[in-house]
Amino acid sequence: MSERKVRVRFAPSPTGALHIGGVRTALYNYLFARQHGGDLIFRIEDTDSNRFVPGAEDYIIESFKWLGINFDEGVSFGGNYGPYRQSERRDIYKKYVQVLLDIGKAYIAFDTPEELDAKRKEIPNFQYDASTRLSMRNSLSMSKEEVDALIAEGKQYVVRFKIEPNEDVHVNDIIRGDVVINSSILDDKVLYKSADELPTYHLANIVDDHLMEVTHVIRGEEWLPSAPLHVLLYRAFGWADTMPEFAHLPLLLKPDGNGKLSKRDGDRLGFPVFPLEWHDPKTGEVSSGYRESGYLPEAVINFLALLGWNPGNDQEIMSLDELVKLFDLHRCSKAGAKFDYEKARWFNHEYILKKDDAEIAELFKPVLAANGVNVADYSDAYITSVVSLVKSRVNFVKELWEQARFFFVAPTSYAEKDIKKRWKEDTPAIMKELIEVLRGIEDFSSKPSEDIVIGWITEKQYHMGNVMNAFRLAVVGECKGPHMFDITELLGKEETIRRIEKAIEVLK
Ligand code: GLU
Repeated sequence: MSERKVRVRFAPSPTGALHIGGVRTALYNYLFARQHGGDLIFRIEDTDSNRFVPGAEDYIIESFKWLGINFDEGVSFGGNYGPYRQSERRDIYKKYVQVLLDIGKAYIAFDTPEELDAKRKEIPNFQYDASTRLSMRNSLSMSKEEVDALIAEGKQYVVRFKIEPNEDVHVNDIIRGDVVINSSILDDKVLYKSADELPTYHLANIVDDHLMEVTHVIRGEEWLPSAPLHVLLYRAFGWADTMPEFAHLPLLLKPDGNGKLSKRDGDRLGFPVFPLEWHDPKTGEVSSGYRESGYLPEAVINFLALLGWNPGNDQEIMSLDELVKLFDLHRCSKAGAKFDYEKARWFNHEYILKKDDAEIAELFKPVLAANGVNVADYSDAYITSVVSLVKSRVNFVKELWEQARFFFVAPTSYAEKDIKKRWKEDTPAIMKELIEVLRGIEDFSSKPSEDIVIGWITEKQYHMGNVMNAFRLAVVGECKGPHMFDITELLGKEETIRRIEKAIEVLK
């Protein structure tokens, strides 16, 4: 077992948008694969045709592209173990269903949905298992001739797994330890349906994990109840020696209260539960995504990595490469992880600080354009400098506009409360003097102009706070923003003076 190359898979069913919990599952598989120099497989489990949603597969692929989670093989990536879409592997599953039938580990059942319903009404807590199967219509209770005749007639049937009762089934889980379940509580699960000639999830999942040489199954806690059945299937096929190791990840819980994080929590509390915006093709409903909400993919990755795992110290900011080094399945918690979306915002803030100003400037350009700025009027260097001055004040790139609009549009109005507090009787006269002082400055960069202006205020014994705030009010439109002389350096002498003249005119 230990000599096998690590191979893990992320195997979503294309039933809609990918939930953020699924993204975390994929991320943990990715980290585990990279850490062990293994392979990460992307498999599409689309055997339930009733739940198939068009567009879901592309959506999932695009989500991982955005997040920077790369797969080594699978749907859209190629590889030697394909096809990787289960709907294209029908013949393979048929063969393995036949294997189980031939060795007596599975049987054919003809019970119609109506018959099963009638049974459920008749017997409280009815379960199709060793205690009831002989009273049902299947190849164990009927003669071979009868069965063959029904099949020849074209009657629909299912193939069920024959579970032996009263056996303790052990699931050895990396996170949860030895999980024991008695086989008597399991029902004879349907493995295959003749109606659509498709296997169910359980059979397809096990056959594929075996054929694709998967070594570790890392998936959400919601699949833990299926694990004993999967163990029994591996054994039935005689594949127990190469059975993957299991790791069932903790649930993602609501930010408030108990229970599983749902899309409704996101709607209620105002945060996305999907990586990208999702347009439901059936209902037309649009759900927000982390990308469209302005999150940086690095921030989403970092935030998700810590939902159910920690590095054992208080380090919080970790790049994908660092996570690959530090991640440890054994350090994942059993208990559910509360989804703290305030923390997600904090991570985004931190990653905006970390990221290169020029890169943020590129992301800021569309925001500028959306706010009516002709981006071509400004150099990259200008936009980058603006970003460097204000980015510490925002959680999202789009919030830069609120902090930086005055770098692109001169104020047309002035904050009322700041006028009251800072624009006095004598202010226009002092501002006129200031204009003369500014005109005389040769090097208009921040520090030299600051020295000159402050020197002038001191010499004249003016009130420092009043003069500087009136100056700011004139240039910015309100008394906020970064260091005043950083602002004027960027705006330049002419624009700065023009704004003061305008304020004198408007405010009198
Ligand atoms: N198709 C299952 C899902 O949608 C895969 C579960 C597993 O990883 O075994 O999550």
